[in-house]
Amino acid sequence: MQVAVIGAGAAGCFCAAEIRRRLPYAGVTVFEAGPKALAKVAVTGGGRCNLTNTFEGVSRLEEAYPRGAAVVKNAFKALSPEQTFQWWENAGVPLTVQPDGCVFPESQDAMQVVRTLERLMRQNGVQLLCGHRVTRINQDLTLEVQGLPEPFKADAVLLAVGGLKEEALRALLPPQVSVTSTVPSLFTLKIQDPGLNALMGTVAKDARLELAGSGISAQGILLVTDWGISGPATLKLSSYAARELARTACKGEIIINWLNSSPQEVRDWMHRTASLQGKKQLSGCRPDGFTERLWEHTLRRAGADRTRKWAETGKEELRRIENALLRDRYPIDGRVRFKEEFVTCGGVSLQSINPRTLESKDIPGLYFSGEVLDIDAITGGFNLQAAWSTGYMAAADICGKLARFV
Ligand SMILES: Cc1cc2nc3c(=O)[nH]c(=O)nc-3n(C[C@H](O)[C@H](O)[C@H](O)COP(=O)(O)OP(=O)(O)OC[C@H]3O[C@@H](n4cnc5c(N)ncnc54)[C@H](O)[C@@H]3O)c2cc1C
Repeated sequence: MQVAVIGAGAAGCFCAAEIRRRLPYAGVTVFEAGPKALAKVAVTGGGRCNLTNTFEGVSRLEEAYPRGAAVVKNAFKALSPEQTFQWWENAGVPLTVQPDGCVFPESQDAMQVVRTLERLMRQNGVQLLCGHRVTRINQDLTLEVQGLPEPFKADAVLLAVGGLKEEALRALLPPQVSVTSTVPSLFTLKIQDPGLNALMGTVAKDARLELAGSGISAQGILLVTDWGISGPATLKLSSYAARELARTACKGEIIINWLNSSPQEVRDWMHRTASLQGKKQLSGCRPDGFTERLWEHTLRRAGADRTRKWAETGKEELRRIENALLRDRYPIDGRVRFKEEFVTCGGVSLQSINPRTLESKDIPGLYFSGEVLDIDAITGGFNLQAAWSTGYMAAADICGKLARFV
């Protein structure tokens, strides 16, 4: 009985180790194109590996998983984030939780995660073949593999090759498996505006970003950089609007609500300031959390006279200030990689798999896990959690099926 796992990444290695733990008599071979296993996991989280999240700040799974939340929900029934936490601690990797809910190894070392999975695969007798790229999966579950003289015949195949480009994925898969187009997600936005760029280093603690004309918005910490905008709110927006941004080659317009507030809240604040601190100049009273630089920039954007007294500021000028605070528009001039951390939106269509087993509807015995699926998440450990849970879910079904043949 042979199981072939294609891709020694997070999902593939987790699944391989789990299959052999459950079915020690099954042969499990992992084919990896690169020179070593888990190369990407080694660099996750800036080398610290943000391997899951407490999900405490997530009220709906769609917030964390803009694509694939329904399948992730099923996968969490197989292995929930809490069970994942326990799984890693049981495997000898004590974990620590940050105040923002991100979970890391206590050692703050991604290599501990890599070495643990490698050890489990070795102990469980998984055969790992690095430098063996799979070039084709045939309908009869034979694989064409670089470096092997003959096709490799498997009883079950797990495809866990991560975020491949659409053409590469189509070339690998039998034609029955449908693939949705792939585009990047999780990047920062380039904005060429000297006034904004001069605010480099400014942090808005709670901002809301909207991609103009799309109705798509994201809220959180906004960081102004010398090239544009970054920080959690920007990364979230790049994820939520990945397809829209790809369609326009990142040439849309961004609307910044610097306070994540409503017009009424801002009007109330301006009204209070004018009546309680009316003798002060506009530049002398700013919203809570605003730096002097950001406030001066806002007044310039509003075309307001910074020396005018609050009590003497007319309706029109106040309206312009409100606009600059809540609807500050900038043209987007492209995207920038965030610490090399891209994930892929798109991949194997969720319509072509059984959402409870991750098996292909058309090719029995062919399974999918991890980023190769049309599942991706915002930053915070959610992408790796999807890899662990979908890897585990596929392992459970593969083992259930193979056990029946014994
Ligand atoms: C720099 C960076 C940092 C990140 N940090 C985090 C983080 O801290 N937390 C988080 O949750 N997510 C993070 N992510 C995202 C996360 O790493 C991925 O979502 C996750 O690794 C996906 O796992 P996977 O197993 O599906 O794919 P991968 O880990 O990408 O593994 C796929 C493997 O398949 C191999 N392969 C590809 N094609 C073939 C082929 N034809 N034949 C054989 N092998 C093949 C590849 O070489 C690779 O080893 C980060 C991503 C990057 C790029």
